[in-house]
Amino acid sequence: MKNLARQLQDRRQQQLYRSRLVVDTPQGVNARIDGRDYLSFCSNDYLGLANHPDIVAAFHRGLDEFGSGSGSAHLITGHSRAHHALEEELAAFLQRPRALLFSTGYMANLGVMSALLGRGDRVFSDHTNHASLLDGARLSGARLLRYRHSDVDDLESRLVNAQAGELLVATDGVFSMDGDIAPLEKLARIAARHDAWLMVDDAHGLGVTGPGGRGSVAQAGLDSTQVPVLMGTLGKAVGTFGAFVAGSDELIETLIQEARTYIYTTAPPPALATATRVALQLVQEEDWRREQLQLLVKRFRRGAQQLGLALCDSETPIQPLITGAAAEALRLSRALREQGILITAIRPPTVAEGKSRLRITFSAAHTEQQVDRLLEALEPIMVAGLATGGG
Ligand SMILES: *Cc1c(COP(=O)(O)O)cnc(C)c1O
Repeated sequence: MKNLARQLQDRRQQQLYRSRLVVDTPQGVNARIDGRDYLSFCSNDYLGLANHPDIVAAFHRGLDEFGSGSGSAHLITGHSRAHHALEEELAAFLQRPRALLFSTGYMANLGVMSALLGRGDRVFSDHTNHASLLDGARLSGARLLRYRHSDVDDLESRLVNAQAGELLVATDGVFSMDGDIAPLEKLARIAARHDAWLMVDDAHGLGVTGPGGRGSVAQAGLDSTQVPVLMGTLGKAVGTFGAFVAGSDELIETLIQEARTYIYTTAPPPALATATRVALQLVQEEDWRREQLQLLVKRFRRGAQQLGLALCDSETPIQPLITGAAAEALRLSRALREQGILITAIRPPTVAEGKSRLRITFSAAHTEQQVDRLLEALEPIMVAGLATGGG
């Protein structure tokens, strides 16, 4: 048996120990932790919907109508009228033939990849893709090839050398840690040329980018033949919980038959689907939330540039400040905490070695004054190394 205590101690020494904060307030830009109030810039509640009164009321209604639990898997009796209606509404929203709900985005990625691929097949995965895409590729048994971040030439040279078997190109739509957008049009062209599936994980694009919040794939003007597999999550901008895959009728039927993370798990509570239906309406109708986000992002970037901070090439609400060393990310996070601002340090293995960072995220619920407060708090604690390096 390995020595867990020593392993944990090593992790602490490397500044990689992770611990949880216990939050006493509803999700929002203000969080109370250990009796102190913080202004938070680290959630994925981009549209500020996670505690919206209409969604909360719909959750209550769903509970009254369906009770608390689904009782079984979707393929037994767990698939309620509310789940079904949400799937139809997601498909209509994304202008795709069908959509299928999964309990989480992590499970959706695992389920899709193991349903479509097996031994002898290949997955081409962007180097900075989310961990769940990597794990999905591993679980599928296909060979995993990682191409350089958003480098379509590197991808193509690997595709050219691929032997027979199914090929699948997987990418985040908006990259979760850097906030940049994948070159989807080019990826779609290359995937088509090599008869490869293109799978886009739009966990951070859905609701935030594209017309009506339809995400990075719609923003790039691509349809369901160009991007056959579109995965999205409901726990980020949509403000509830869960995930879905949208695509052709044949894709969805195949997933129902074969995706093990769909089949062998209890369906989420129907009330969650009732709440998400209302959330989806708000996502589509309230363009002002996306406009507010753009305003905040511009204000932050302008202010950060004036302070000489090295920003990443991101127009999305994800605005990382790269510190390099894990210890420096922790130091900055702690210094901000002392000033009442909450931004967690992101360290390996979530990001590559030497790419630790403060992952700053904005929500439509933030005000411009709050962005200014963040900039004022950042100014005195930034060191020369961060001001000139990073990026
Ligand atoms: C959050 C996230 C997931 C996982 O979704 P969950 O519903 O939280 O399990 C998958 N992919 C990306 C890019 C994500 O950011």
